[in-house]
Amino acid sequence: MIEVSKKCIGCGKCVPVCPFAAINMIDKKAVMNEACTLCGVCVQICPVQAIAITREEASRRDHSGFKGVWVYVELTETGDKTHPKKIKPVTFELLGAGRKLADELKEDLCAVLLTDKDHGYEKELGSYGADKVYMVEHDELFEYNTDIFSTVVVSLVNRHKPSVMLYGATIQGRDLAPRVASALYVGLTADCTALAIKDGLLLQSRPAFGGNIMADILSPNSRPQMATVRPNVMKMNEPVHGRTAMTVRESAKLDKSLRRVKVLERKLSHDGGGVRIENAKIIVSGGRGMKTKDKFKLLDELSKLLGGVVGASRAAVDLGFKEKTHQVGQSGTTVSPKLYLSFGISGAVQHIVGMKSSDVIVAVNKDPNAPIFNVAKYGIVGDAHEIAPKLIEALKKK
Ligand SMILES: Cc1cc2nc3c(=O)[nH]c(=O)nc-3n(C[C@H](O)[C@H](O)[C@H](O)COP(=O)(O)OP(=O)(O)OC[C@H]3O[C@@H](n4cnc5c(N)ncnc54)[C@H](O)[C@@H]3O)c2cc1C
Repeated sequence: MIEVSKKCIGCGKCVPVCPFAAINMIDKKAVMNEACTLCGVCVQICPVQAIAITREEASRRDHSGFKGVWVYVELTETGDKTHPKKIKPVTFELLGAGRKLADELKEDLCAVLLTDKDHGYEKELGSYGADKVYMVEHDELFEYNTDIFSTVVVSLVNRHKPSVMLYGATIQGRDLAPRVASALYVGLTADCTALAIKDGLLLQSRPAFGGNIMADILSPNSRPQMATVRPNVMKMNEPVHGRTAMTVRESAKLDKSLRRVKVLERKLSHDGGGVRIENAKIIVSGGRGMKTKDKFKLLDELSKLLGGVVGASRAAVDLGFKEKTHQVGQSGTTVSPKLYLSFGISGAVQHIVGMKSSDVIVAVNKDPNAPIFNVAKYGIVGDAHEIAPKLIEALKKK
């Protein structure tokens, strides 16, 4: 429930910022009408804290009207003028996971797309399993902005009441999802590594206590049940060409003043044009067992010959063998290459969690009991400093 107290001074600042035209000034007091979605923008803008939202106790709420599994669609820039943005692969991974959840719940799988221009994204979303696409097309959605995007997502959730909502644990998803969760007063489980349905609820599994245990989390008292999932954790389904999704076009009234953060300048960082570790098909990774920065360079040579990218354990990063952007694992990047070669990495749980979904894992370690061998398809017990040069030599001969 939204209430305006006697503190209201009738300044009218809340009227233009309301995205739903839900506020009228009557007798110099703000009065909300039925279009109000409790998005909370007016609460933030009110200079005298006269507007407050009171919420029912969560456990007393009736959740029977909440239906549908939603996936937030993240767009990324392409640098191409005709198709300036494309859908990030993590969206398709979430649609794959969401499809299973929706089928089990016997509900629709819906994609939520916020864009300044429709470039036919619905077709692709349909082919990856979406039944429906909620699309908001608006000039103000030209680039991601926390205030603008969260306001639109909150209003869509309040209008359509999904039971589950998933986001990529990307820079954007990690910014947006908590904002939406706090506006809706619901929980959010970050960095889930598995999702399932248990007794009609979303079972959210994630590493806890430094990755030493897996925690299973349920949110029985709030809707939607919201989770973020890192890129490369869920397997993407093969697209079914010709499978289409129903598009539901939604409108939003977005005032420029909602945008409290203004981007003054954008700089693209150049990483030498190399493939980013999260997208690499082949990764040659090294750990503390590589001993020195100089010896670690052997892995640069090997990965170049294989057409791959170099990865590193946290210990190797801490020792300065490689930059943090190359770190694989819980506090680094989750990867899922076709081939993961590891040299001198013990296989701590925090490392394994970031690479275990690789297709083929080959591990080299001089300790036959190293835990990395538990996830490796091929294990070589031996000295990395002997084996890596031999591989380089063999590849050069080829
Ligand atoms: C909250 C938290 C988050 C973390 N996040 C991450 C993360 O994202 N990624 C990550 O990697 N770690 C992470 N860690 C650290 C993790 O627990 C381990 O400490 C780290 O992965 C160990 O790195 P390592 O395997 O290179 O080193 P070590 O565990 O020291 O293992 C070195 C291995 O090299 C082998 N070796 C030594 N010499 C040779 C040789 N000549 N030839 C072959 N093998 C040799 C040894 O037998 C040993 O198995 C995290 C820890 C915490 C608490």
